[in-house]
Amino acid sequence: MAIRKIRLEGDEILRKKCKEVKEITPKITTLLDDMAETMYQANGVGLAAPQVGILKRVVVIDVGDGLIELINPVIVESKGEVVGDEGCLSLPGRSAHVKRPEYVKVEALDRNGEKIVIEGTELLAVALCHETDHLEGILYTDKAIPDTETVWEDEE
Ligand code: ZN
Repeated sequence: MAIRKIRLEGDEILRKKCKEVKEITPKITTLLDDMAETMYQANGVGLAAPQVGILKRVVVIDVGDGLIELINPVIVESKGEVVGDEGCLSLPGRSAHVKRPEYVKVEALDRNGEKIVIEGTELLAVALCHETDHLEGILYTDKAIPDTETVWEDEE
């Protein structure tokens, strides 16, 4: 496994739409491994492939309940509405309030090509929405409620 470089806001790759994974090759499983390692090293709760410069529909999430790997994730159901403070590894040191569904259901493939269904509420629902947005070139700041941004002090 290897740590990959996280692309930051301003990098145009973050604004591109990702391609569906047609075949789960060793390149894709290595990408999943590297993305998980990169996310954990950065203390993130989710990472999407474009954030490491790869325009494929691949996402990793861990909100504290174990690693979730998603290939070609699609939100098939969402309910409710909740506003929470949200940040992104591609926009370090910042957060803002974003309105998200309080429940989502996502269909995807796992690394073996098996169809999986993930249901999430609270932080998991936010992460599922945030990461699938990345696959469309959407950043949370596009959806943030105006004037709710916090810029954190440097923790050095
Ligand atoms: Zn993000």
